Amino acid sequence: MRICRFNHDKLGLVQGEEIIDVTAALEVLPALRWPVPQCDPLVAALPEVLKAALDLMPNARRVPLASVTLNSPVSYATKLPAAPVNYLKHMAEAQGDPATFHAHHLKKIEEVGLFLKASSSLVGAGDGVALRQLDRRNDHELELAVIIGKKADRVPVESALDYVAGYAIGLDMTVRGPEERSLRKSIDSYSVLGPWITTPDEVGDPSQLDIELYVNGELRQRANTRDLVIGIPKLISWASEYYTLLPGDVIFTGTPDGVGPVVPGDIIRASIEKVGEMEVNVRAA
Ligand code: MN
Repeated sequence: MRICRFNHDKLGLVQGEEIIDVTAALEVLPALRWPVPQCDPLVAALPEVLKAALDLMPNARRVPLASVTLNSPVSYATKLPAAPVNYLKHMAEAQGDPATFHAHHLKKIEEVGLFLKASSSLVGAGDGVALRQLDRRNDHELELAVIIGKKADRVPVESALDYVAGYAIGLDMTVRGPEERSLRKSIDSYSVLGPWITTPDEVGDPSQLDIELYVNGELRQRANTRDLVIGIPKLISWASEYYTLLPGDVIFTGTPDGVGPVVPGDIIRASIEKVGEMEVNVRAA
């Protein structure tokens, strides 16, 4: 299934070019009181919500996909773990352009480890990217995003995919420069997640997916997730060795070669096989 959040607080199931409005299914979620849970309540209760949504479907309102604003399907993540240089060709392009890519890119992912993007940087496809630091280079990084569905604490590689609620397209937007990644990649709206959550049964093996990104119609990135240096199960297991992954946490799995600059007015179109396709507008903050 494809589960979307639209027009800020509406929940939908995506079928072709239509959204089935199943917002009423959110009634199964517990009312929130302080202290608030460390998770996204929707993702934590996704099986129950989807069951209620299926009951509602026959009589639910249908709206054209093109008529709504798609927001981040995860409304709250405790953290956004992200993989640096996880495709060899991207490492090669970075090493070949030291003026743009700083020393961060010279080491292998096994040495560097994962980094964290601020969860406040999370937006949806329809929200767009609001660029800051306009005198510097702002790049797109297309990545398969993995949404964690249940608490994962030091989980083995063999069962790591059992903790996945679904997949989405991630854009790890980045200001190039010498500072720590967490600063340059955590600007508001620099973590785009969309267009929706696609459940694992629709995606199958996450290590066989074509991924593509265009800017203003020009192809910039094209790769397949089989070329990931550290694959999805290992990334989940590795991250969970350090911190407990919680429902709604999103792992950005790394970008292939072809990263490049965007400026206000650009339109990014990104797609991941079996997951979806989205258009994201770039503006100045
Ligand atoms: Mn990245």
